[in-house]
Amino acid sequence: MTSQTTRPGNRLTADPSILNSEVEPTRPPLSTRVLARRVDEVPRSGIRRFFDILATMTDVISLGVGEPDFDTPQQVIEAGQHSLAARRTHYTSNYGTIELRRALAHHIERLYGVRYDPTEEILITVGGSEALDVAVRATIDPGDEVIVHEPSYVSYRPAIIFAGGVPVGVPTTCEEDFALDPAKVEAAITPNTKAILLNYPCNPTGAVLPPEVQDEIARIAVRHDLLVYTDEIYDRLVYGGYQMRTMSSLPGMRRRTVLMGGFSKAYAMTGWRIGYICAPSEILEGILKVHQYVIMSAPTVAQDAALEALKTGEPDIARMVGQYDKRRRLLVDGFNAMGLQCFEPLGAFYAFPKISSTGLSSEAFAEALLQEESVAVVPGTAFGAAGEGHVRCCYATSEGELREALIRIEHFVTRRRANT
Ligand code: PLP
Repeated sequence: MTSQTTRPGNRLTADPSILNSEVEPTRPPLSTRVLARRVDEVPRSGIRRFFDILATMTDVISLGVGEPDFDTPQQVIEAGQHSLAARRTHYTSNYGTIELRRALAHHIERLYGVRYDPTEEILITVGGSEALDVAVRATIDPGDEVIVHEPSYVSYRPAIIFAGGVPVGVPTTCEEDFALDPAKVEAAITPNTKAILLNYPCNPTGAVLPPEVQDEIARIAVRHDLLVYTDEIYDRLVYGGYQMRTMSSLPGMRRRTVLMGGFSKAYAMTGWRIGYICAPSEILEGILKVHQYVIMSAPTVAQDAALEALKTGEPDIARMVGQYDKRRRLLVDGFNAMGLQCFEPLGAFYAFPKISSTGLSSEAFAEALLQEESVAVVPGTAFGAAGEGHVRCCYATSEGELREALIRIEHFVTRRRANT
């Protein structure tokens, strides 16, 4: 740094070309290489243009955003207020408060029968988003391959690439109810495969894993000695009698599983930014290192609110899931009735109807629907090429709005069919 500023001609000047041409003639200008390659390599979001249009419009019914329309339960908000009133305004342990970790350990054991030690196997993160980032960064070496089902959540590929890894997509289809086919997973394994990344219940498809498929994927992970990241942020939002089992509860899985979850979806706490990771201490220790240096600790007030959610939030989850379930039926039946084939999603709060019968691509459908009927949905291709022919519709929206959206979508589809 010092030598740079003292060498004549190597100071930053008003004209950077002087710097480039006189001092480093062999290097291309900084402007062409300022971004790291792995960042440059990640394409900009395919739905950017679409959201630009959305931002200019009013009276849009949005089925686009993946977050609960409910507010955080009242007693959880109050717990946050009490936390501040008690001047709990300092850092917590890097791991998160021990009270929240203990409550989470108890919660996970009660739900799934897997015991995590709250002192060294649970880390509180800034949302499921941070959980994904630090988990992948702590465990991926350059060139390591990570198998990801597609279509899948928009952050997975970038997170793997930012960590220097290589995402290997395994397509899932409507015909298979978007459950991962174990044979395709096994076929995608190479000597460089380090991990499988799972997200069931799934964003964007709403799919869950049938137990026999989940068992087979676990057997594959054990047979090939793979790590499994499992993003179970929608674990509490399941319907139709589906019984959620966490991946780490399956034989041979606990020691190779990085379980990620969060409070955003089940407790309607997106803005509080609390997530978590459960993993064996040898793995969590490394993940903690990354978290410690980039985050320090998740917000104290939000951790205190999350603790209240764990203690008293069950009736709220039941109330919201009941509502989502009604809306899910409404939307799925509505799509099928208008001839847009929609498999029955048993998890999360998304429907993923097939729109290819309209003759439009996913993007063209979403854009025209927005412009002609002011209904926002997300093109399936935003979640990978395997999403072509579908759009994602979030039903965490009021029943009245969903009914109106269905009417508008039907008008749109009828018009399109009449024109083809
Ligand atoms: N994982 C999945 C599958 C998601 O859909 C989301 C949010 O949409 C997240 C993780 C991140 O959630 P948060 O960071 O709010 O906990």
